[in-house]
Amino acid sequence: MALDALVNARGSAFLHTDPLRFPRRYIAPHDREAVALLAALFAYGNVKAMGDFLERLLSPLGAHPAAALASGRLPAEPPPYRFQRGEDVRALLAGVGRTLRRHGTLEACFESVRGEPEERLEAFARALRGACRRASPGLDHLLPLPSAGSACKRWRMFLRWVVRPDDGLDLGLWTCLTPAQLLIPVDVHVARLARALGLTRRATPDARFAAEATAALARFCPTDPTRYDFALARLGIAKECRGRRVERLCRACSLRPHCALAGR
Ligand code: SF4
Repeated sequence: MALDALVNARGSAFLHTDPLRFPRRYIAPHDREAVALLAALFAYGNVKAMGDFLERLLSPLGAHPAAALASGRLPAEPPPYRFQRGEDVRALLAGVGRTLRRHGTLEACFESVRGEPEERLEAFARALRGACRRASPGLDHLLPLPSAGSACKRWRMFLRWVVRPDDGLDLGLWTCLTPAQLLIPVDVHVARLARALGLTRRATPDARFAAEATAALARFCPTDPTRYDFALARLGIAKECRGRRVERLCRACSLRPHCALAGR
């Protein structure tokens, strides 16, 4: 099947192109979990600038960032990043540290609320906002509330990373959700391909877009519909798909028979 061929061709060899490489540097599950959250929340904007920022953010936290955060040993002046001022970044680090002190792990915080996955994600986002003890536009952007109706790409990406089994990319850390309960993280590349492949007709890449595209992918893999996300996003990120017919690229693309962008 075309999507499976795409997944098989884009595995962990492409890890270096993705912010998942940051949590994968650590061995301990607690460190991977904490770094996954930070890397996912700041996964927006220019890829190189994001990578440089995460290097500067994580370096002072040392070899065991979860313990450093929980102990409150925070960098005095963390770097700013685009919409986040240095004070916002410091408040986030402090908030994650407080959450770890209170719950032990981020999963325990997520699990502390019963309900449907969307209700638990909403509560998780609100809990982190509260733990930051600072209100600012930068933190609102960093910790969006799913109830606002956006696709919440960075939350979806974090959940994909920690919930999906370890496949050399995703981390397989959490058991409080199953892969079947995840929604696909919708970035500009995934949104374009989802429309081109007929996974949804929605124009706006919002929460309903993510739900419809995920439901369509579940027809191919009901237990793990977001398994296709990394490979779909990689097509655009690696510039192997330009979002239009480019014969030398489309000729090599396993999606071509199904892609409205390439002509059928
Ligand atoms: S067939 Fe061409 S336009 Fe369609 S996804 Fe592949 S590379 Fe992109």
